[in-house]
Amino acid sequence: MDKLSSEKRSSIMRGIRNKDMKPEMQVRRLIFRMGYRYRLHSSHLPGKPDLAFPGLKKVIFVHGCFWHQHKRKNCRDSHIPKTNSNYWEQKLKGNAERDTKNKKELQYMGWKVLIIWECELKNLDRVEEIIRNFLNQV
Ligand SMILES: [Zn+2]
Repeated sequence: MDKLSSEKRSSIMRGIRNKDMKPEMQVRRLIFRMGYRYRLHSSHLPGKPDLAFPGLKKVIFVHGCFWHQHKRKNCRDSHIPKTNSNYWEQKLKGNAERDTKNKKELQYMGWKVLIIWECELKNLDRVEEIIRNFLNQV
């Protein structure tokens, strides 16, 4: 791999990672305002869920559409870059497989799992409704 492309790649990764920080903060703030308290990144649980509600045995992941490959048709943020597409395909496929495995493990342990996608945050009222339903559900 030449120097330019690896530099370019790391700048892409940096940009996306920074953008990725925001959705999780948005969801944290929203849920805090809704009056729920949670644990962050519980390291004893598969996949270190972004938010865990131990009393309810529920967890929420906030997924960036790109890193976690959102499979919804109209999601524009999940497309694989044309440069180094093999690299990205491998990497992102690995991420998605890990996500599926973690989700199954959590469910096997009796946890309920909700995934909030970055692109869903365009409608925060809707996300609030989804979260409220999820946390109220027995
Ligand atoms: Zn999406």
